[in-house]
Parts: sequence; structure tokens; C-alpha cells
Amino acid sequence: MLVITHYRNKCIGCNACVEIAPGQWKMSRKDGKSVLLGAQKKKMAHTGYFDDSVFDENLKAAEACPVNIIKVSFK
Ligand code: SF4
Repeated sequence: MLVITHYRNKCIGCNACVEIAPGQWKMSRKDGKSVLLGAQKKKMAHTGYFDDSVFDENLKAAEACPVNIIKVSFK
């Protein structure tokens, strides 16, 4: 299982993750930050669990994030 963690409070709303992995990410119209779809807020971050098949695009999103707040791992 793929685990994605998003430290959302530090998001600068650049849209890169949405462009690279639109299946997991969208922009919030409320605050202009990205939202990890289906994630739950846990302490300081939002965490979501996904099929391994979306690893590549989300790794690319994590690498593209200019503030390095997307973490991708396997559980
Ligand atoms: S790439 Fe990073 S800074 Fe840009 S919208 Fe996504 S989480 Fe926010």
C-alpha cells in the first residue's frame, strides 16, 4: 500500500502536484492550497493510502514540490 503524507500548512499553492498526479490532488478554492484527495488529517499532516499503481506519478509530484512537503512511502 502506498502512503502519501502532505504537510499542507506549508503548501504554497503552486499547482505542480495537481498537474502531475490529478488523480490524487486538487486545488482548494477556499485557501488556494492543494488537497490530497481521501486523506485524513493526522497531527501536523494529511495522510492518505493508495494503490501502489499510483506511486510513479506521486513520486514525481513529491520531487516537483518546491517546498518538499509531499512524502511518499510504502506500508
Ligand atoms: S507541489 Fe507542493 S507546494 Fe505545490 S501545490 Fe502541491 S503540495 Fe503545494
